[in-house]
Amino acid sequence: PFDVLIVGGGPAGAAAAIYAARKGIRTGIVAERFGGQVMDTLAIENFISVKETEGPKLVMALEEHVKQYEVDVMNLQRAARLVPGSADGGTLAEVQLENGAALQAKTVIVATGARWREMNVPGEQEFRGKGVAYCPHCDGPLFKGKRVAVIGGGNSGVEAAIDLAGIVGHVTLLEFADELRADAVLQKKLYSLSNVKVVKSAQTTEVTGADKVNGLVYKDRASGEPHRIELEGVFVQIGLLPNTDFLKGTVELSRFGEIVVDAKGQTSVPGVFAAGDCTTVPYKQIIIAMGEGSKAALSAFDHLIRSSAP
Ligand code: FAD
Repeated sequence: PFDVLIVGGGPAGAAAAIYAARKGIRTGIVAERFGGQVMDTLAIENFISVKETEGPKLVMALEEHVKQYEVDVMNLQRAARLVPGSADGGTLAEVQLENGAALQAKTVIVATGARWREMNVPGEQEFRGKGVAYCPHCDGPLFKGKRVAVIGGGNSGVEAAIDLAGIVGHVTLLEFADELRADAVLQKKLYSLSNVKVVKSAQTTEVTGADKVNGLVYKDRASGEPHRIELEGVFVQIGLLPNTDFLKGTVELSRFGEIVVDAKGQTSVPGVFAAGDCTTVPYKQIIIAMGEGSKAALSAFDHLIRSSAP
């Protein structure tokens, strides 16, 4: 069996693998797609100490670093179920794969990440990375002085609009419902900004452009009338979906489906740790996922040296 089995091969999983393997313990990674969301990222400018890189380039570096160690990498494999071991370590945890195989481990680190909820309208996929963005911390500075829209009036949408208003020229916030759902303090701040316009009851129907985004079309849900806004960027903030469906009923999840972890990355199940975008840890970023993955591996090691399991 593995001493540490990591489910997920994004920045959190890769960091966990390196930290675990450096302890000389038997380490494995099972990942549906090694690299995770970073594979879909173009420019990365906030990975500290690297001024600028690209997603696939960073993934290659991650893979090379992991391969420096004895890590059993099982790529293109999807975990379907986790069966926790017993609290005293007497029986092992089991990760069952979609292909029918099962892997046994003394400790498990879940690092399955998350995905942005998409609008599913024409132009969204086509202009992804060409004006359609999901992360204001990552891509905000690319729109300096330009016009953008934020889709979604929940806390993340309103936070994004406030954040972007300090960088870009103008922000239009579009909310589907007839009211914003964000906290009152955030709404107050939002309405105090002179370069933000809020449009409620607005259903985005299309992102338009030629080689880059040049506008979006929304339907006024009250009148049914279509409207067009000319702009250079669209930030979609309608939710982040953690990849934790396969854990339902085993580890405690938040109401958003995030794995609840403590400061050491411990979940509600002894011997099961979690790290990165799939957890309750706020701010979903590469550097944070790597830090959390490292922490979870150190916690798993700590758990192993304290447990009686052979
Ligand atoms: P992920 O990267 O999501 O990796 C999850 C891993 O788990 C993958 O290997 C996946 O295949 C695997 N997995 C999922 N479910 C299963 C399963 N059931 N069984 C097996 N494996 C599974 N962050 C920045 O810091 N800077 C940026 O510039 C930046 N730009 C971004 C641009 C885009 C377009 C996107 C989408 C994200 C961006 N981010 C950026 C966010 C960053 O990519 C994430 O915060 C980071 O990748 C999270 O790492 P993670 O390891 O927790 O999860």
